[in-house]
Amino acid sequence: MKFVDEAVIEVAGGNGGNGCLSFRRARNLPRGGPDGGNGGNGGDIDLIGDAALNTLVDFRFTPRYAAPNGKPGRGGDKTGACGDALHVRVPVGTTVLDEETQTAIGDVEHPGETLLVARGGRRGLGNAHFKSSTNRTPRHATEGAPGEQRRLRLSLRVIADAGLLGLPNAGKSTLISRVSASKPKIADYPFTTLTPNLGVVRVGDDASFVMADVPGLVAGAAAGAGLGARFLKHLSRVRLLLHLVDAAPFDGSDPVANARQVEAELFAYSDALRERSIWIVATKLDLPAAARALEELRQAFPDRPCYGISAVRGDGVDALMADACAHAARCREDAAAEPDVAKRQRELEERIAEDVRKHVFHGVSNEAASDAEVDTGR
Ligand code: GDP
Ligand code: MG
Repeated sequence: MKFVDEAVIEVAGGNGGNGCLSFRRARNLPRGGPDGGNGGNGGDIDLIGDAALNTLVDFRFTPRYAAPNGKPGRGGDKTGACGDALHVRVPVGTTVLDEETQTAIGDVEHPGETLLVARGGRRGLGNAHFKSSTNRTPRHATEGAPGEQRRLRLSLRVIADAGLLGLPNAGKSTLISRVSASKPKIADYPFTTLTPNLGVVRVGDDASFVMADVPGLVAGAAAGAGLGARFLKHLSRVRLLLHLVDAAPFDGSDPVANARQVEAELFAYSDALRERSIWIVATKLDLPAAARALEELRQAFPDRPCYGISAVRGDGVDALMADACAHAARCREDAAAEPDVAKRQRELEERIAEDVRKHVFHGVSNEAASDAEVDTGR
């Protein structure tokens, strides 16, 4: 299944129907009064939340939507029919932005929720409408107004239970390809991962969770300089962040300093992310220098759970996945059982999403809407 997290579409409300210019004429009524009817209003376009959808892929094939026009008025005082509203189904969690003005139009957060994105044009008025005591034979009617036209950027946050975070080369792609059926590119140079990859991690027979590999953060990402900013928005709903730290970096840099840099980037982007669960995962434990770095990370981040893994040899990977899976299950169950927990989760999501909106246009290029493979692992 192809996962598309952004799409640009054009929407056009229906045009209003013209008013009619007409006079009653009959053998016995050679000079009857005005009887031109009004036109009908053009149809609106509403987006409507649909819980059954989880991608924006369909919008690649149908990028343009037009609501029906209002019908013109006719003689004999006949009013034109209004154009019906066009409902366009979008996944729950879709954020809608006006591509031209770069302003947020709104979010569709619940199934059945509607969001008006293009108004239909107003009806034109027939000459019968203009009849008055001083003007019994009005000779004008008005045209219907054109429907509103807009280019919209739809953007859907990836809903993953756990997100992998870390500098380029930390080992994120290697880990996700080891534990899920997702096969991201793996290479020795930075910026390997240009799109978020999602993988379903199966733990045991019937437990699983969705893990997202978010492209590497680089300094300045929060200000829009790095590739990371474009994808950080996916993190607003991720309940657990696994911060992968290269414990034996090639360039001899200090793993603790690297980890602090990534956290600083993250919190510069959204201070509310401090309230998310963040686990430190030291990688490449098969390399000789790594054991000491793991100890240093434990001391430097005493409040965070710290794990050590080797994605290449497999050490520590199963234990980490089991704990992450249990954490994801606990979050889901707590939210289902206790309305208070669900409310707090939504509020935190909202605050992060608020920060996301401030950053969403930084580093987002128009043509490069991102695709990523979702692999269900079956
Ligand atoms: P990403 O940029 O965080 O996605 O990192 P990658 O997964 O692409 O890995 C970067 C480099 O580190 C690659 O050359 C991997 O082969 C290497 N690597 C990843 N995990 C391990 C590991 O557990 N041990 C060792 N020795 N190398 C690793
Ligand atoms: Mg990668």
